[in-house]
Amino acid sequence: MTSKPTPPIELTGTAAHLAGDRVDLANDALTALSAICPVTTLHDDPHVVADASRDWWPLALHWSIRGETAALAAAIAHPTTVDEVAAVVGLCNQHRIPVTVIGGRSGVCGASIPVHGGVLLDTTGLAGIVNVDVDSGLVTVGAGTFGPDLEEALRDGYGLTVGHHPQSFDISTVGGWLACRGAGQYSTRYGKIEDMVAGIEAVLADGTVVRSGPQPAGAVGPDLDQLLIGSEGTLAVITSVTLRAHTVPASEGRATYRLPNVTAAFEACRRVIRSGATPAVLRLYDPIESARSHGGDGEECIILVLDEGHPAMVATTLEMVDEAFRSCGGTLSDDDRVAHWLEHRNDTSALQALTRRGYLVDTMEVTAPWSRLGAVYEAVRTAALATPGVIAASAHLSHSYPDGACLYFSLAGRPGLDAPLADIDALHRAMWDSAQVAAVNAGANLSHHHGVGLNRSRFMAASSPTLGMLQAIKSALDPNGILNPGKLGLADPFGASGW
Ligand SMILES: Cc1cc2nc3c(=O)[nH]c(=O)nc-3n(C[C@H](O)[C@H](O)[C@H](O)COP(=O)(O)OP(=O)(O)OC[C@H]3O[C@@H](n4cnc5c(N)ncnc54)[C@H](O)[C@@H]3O)c2cc1C
Repeated sequence: MTSKPTPPIELTGTAAHLAGDRVDLANDALTALSAICPVTTLHDDPHVVADASRDWWPLALHWSIRGETAALAAAIAHPTTVDEVAAVVGLCNQHRIPVTVIGGRSGVCGASIPVHGGVLLDTTGLAGIVNVDVDSGLVTVGAGTFGPDLEEALRDGYGLTVGHHPQSFDISTVGGWLACRGAGQYSTRYGKIEDMVAGIEAVLADGTVVRSGPQPAGAVGPDLDQLLIGSEGTLAVITSVTLRAHTVPASEGRATYRLPNVTAAFEACRRVIRSGATPAVLRLYDPIESARSHGGDGEECIILVLDEGHPAMVATTLEMVDEAFRSCGGTLSDDDRVAHWLEHRNDTSALQALTRRGYLVDTMEVTAPWSRLGAVYEAVRTAALATPGVIAASAHLSHSYPDGACLYFSLAGRPGLDAPLADIDALHRAMWDSAQVAAVNAGANLSHHHGVGLNRSRFMAASSPTLGMLQAIKSALDPNGILNPGKLGLADPFGASGW
């Protein structure tokens, strides 16, 4: 099976929405590029290039249904080997052409939008399993491999699983998981993607190929894999990855709990995790989301629990969960909401349906220490709902750690289908300005797993104390700034991004 990107919604035209400074491809550069690998230019097929020049950023779905893509690349390069990637990047560096890497194009922050035109480097030709070390539980896989292709080959061929199941599993690639420092829904058991990486092969801006690992751990200077993980295509093109894999679990346990309110529910989850239990899935829905999707009564919180692994481990984990929840006034529900969640968890049809009805919906995921979680929840909802045009703000707790958790907010407004796109953009900005700033001021970070991309770039200077260090590394590794310019809050040598 070989997957390909899934369009977020219909694209009814090919005009560029973002009017940033744009770099075209001169004839000599295009000729040289076409000699390296297959290329699709804007001239060849405007619709294909326009489609590849957008992602799943919910705001951009409104542009799409009104005939506008996010921005327009000049061409898409389709390499299938690391040498071809190195040659493409080296050539673009020589000609000062922006290179934006695209995988599944499922990002939700505009990270893969080619705001300065130039070349889109499509990684989906770098697909498939390269090697499996069954004894060590290590799988080396091409960066352009989609989730189902990786997991099916691993499970069927080797009885292994990586355990990374983002909601976008079907529509995203391994390289994108690393580049955005993603998290799967079973992360409390298997970790975030950065915990799963044992080695990386990548191409730097000058075309140099670097390789690391695979090793279980090390003390040979700083861990440079972690520098590339989360770099969103601004420091290197990841071409293959060695991931840690686990034996396919022998058993699974599930439970649904009802807690009287958010405060008790946060405390119950905190107690579970602080006790040392690591249920693969621990999802707490606030009263709004509990009522909307999980049969809640409008006041209570529904919490879904799922664990998998050795039967003894699963049984003990569920016992520990039960003890913690009961100590906070929780009751075990006989209504198995986990089955319902499993069935619908990757369904995105509501996003498209709401967009077509004139709603603007977006999600904002942040982390905070347990001691700040309640304050972050209240601050974000209060700030968002005080923003003119915002009509709904709710949250669930989606990922937990010994020291804190991720709160995943859903925000919505209804500008309507007749509203000018400029007004929809303004509402989106206002919604994010209020919610994101409130989150940070209350003790949260900028992002847990969606990344920064274009949307959150404007918050980086004020919210990321290490931005100066990142800029210094960027300047050293990519002095011409060709890799994904306009993103991550980094200096942009190509001018205005249009956002
Ligand atoms: C419905 C939906 C649900 C989602 N759920 C989750 C979730 O549960 N967990 C989660 O973590 N994310 C989630 N996401 C966000 C998104 O799917 C992830 O960020 C995903 O990891 C992006 O992978 P991709 O292959 O689509 O990357 P793209 O969108 O193509 O690219 C994203 C960024 O990574 C860079 N990039 C991609 N591949 C490479 C590479 N090989 N080398 C260097 N840079 C690269 C791009 O330049 C861009 O900056 C969701 C998105 C949607 C639409």
